[in-house]
Amino acid sequence: MSGFVFGEKPIQIAGGDGVHLHSESGAEFLDFGASYACAPAGHCHPDVVDAVQSQAADLLYVQGSYPTATRTALYDRLAALGPGDCSNVWLCNSGTEANEAALKFARHATGCEKVVAAKRAFHGRTLGALAATWKSEYREGFAVPEHVEFVDYGDPEALRAAVDDETAAVLLEPIQGEGGVHPAPEGYLQTAREVCDETGAALVLDEIQTGLGRTGSLWACERAGVEPDALTVAKGLGSGLPIAATLVADWLAEDAGNHGSTFSGGPVPCAAALATLDVIEDEDLAANAADVGGYLRDELAALPVRDVRGAGLMLGVEVKRGANRALRDLAMDHGVLALPAGRTVVRLLPPLTVDESHADEVVGALEAVL
Ligand SMILES: *Cc1c(COP(=O)(O)O)cnc(C)c1O
Repeated sequence: MSGFVFGEKPIQIAGGDGVHLHSESGAEFLDFGASYACAPAGHCHPDVVDAVQSQAADLLYVQGSYPTATRTALYDRLAALGPGDCSNVWLCNSGTEANEAALKFARHATGCEKVVAAKRAFHGRTLGALAATWKSEYREGFAVPEHVEFVDYGDPEALRAAVDDETAAVLLEPIQGEGGVHPAPEGYLQTAREVCDETGAALVLDEIQTGLGRTGSLWACERAGVEPDALTVAKGLGSGLPIAATLVADWLAEDAGNHGSTFSGGPVPCAAALATLDVIEDEDLAANAADVGGYLRDELAALPVRDVRGAGLMLGVEVKRGANRALRDLAMDHGVLALPAGRTVVRLLPPLTVDESHADEVVGALEAVL
């Protein structure tokens, strides 16, 4: 998965500071993938490091049935931030688990089995989330359960036709990330909301990549004016510590069945998440994502590329040559790290702290490698 950039020339990453990573030998990299979007506040933000160190010194772990002030504070914080009625919080350790939980809650509350998801979707690699993930490469050989009906992403009629009274959940990314950076067309998420209201299915929005300010608002669904029944968040929530959350409406929480996890809401990841949320709010990183993202997008559009898509600091650049070669040249010749999204898309998901000079650096490097 990560071998393609550094496969030929082993580089050991030794440290990170803000938007940069550096290697053992002192080479510096501008991390415009934010390490799978896991560093929204930049690498090693001092507030996050302090919070983690001080929590670790007090208590590394205590079983989830014993309340802690840190976990309670994070429950309250996420409950207040959840869109619409999504004020019930389930904490876990990864994105795929957050989606598993959402699907379990939806099945329990509706008594239905079927899930509707989109072609090109990525929701994780445990069996339930994998069943809603499109790419055959990820599915092959795992006897993936077949209760998911896939529809063309962005086609409201296909969604209307697929969702019925037997449907437990409609699971969608507001902007498909891994699948090539495809934003939902205008009105599509509204249609999903309507169809779920008509049939009683739960609308689950996977904001694991789009959330936490990346697209210019805390959640991408806010910009679409749609309130889901469940929203999942992971990746950058703990600035790289393993923590994720499923935020659900009352009707899903009241009838959630029995779900659990040993590490749910561990004190150190919770401390990291609280500090990360503070930084995102205090430094107004969603606004920065909108501003710098808008600037970056305009600059990218002037390059000889096929397309530039996305919102805020979640941008996909469709290139004419293979994305992997472009990414390798960016890293090796220009010290710029980015991510692929399929064979032809260079995906930019930088820390939300980047400024226009970082954007210029990336555009210059892309211009040179293309
Ligand atoms: C990364 C990702 C996941 C899976 O998260 P993991 O923490 O790797 O399990 C799910 N959905 C989306 C949209 C993602 O980007």
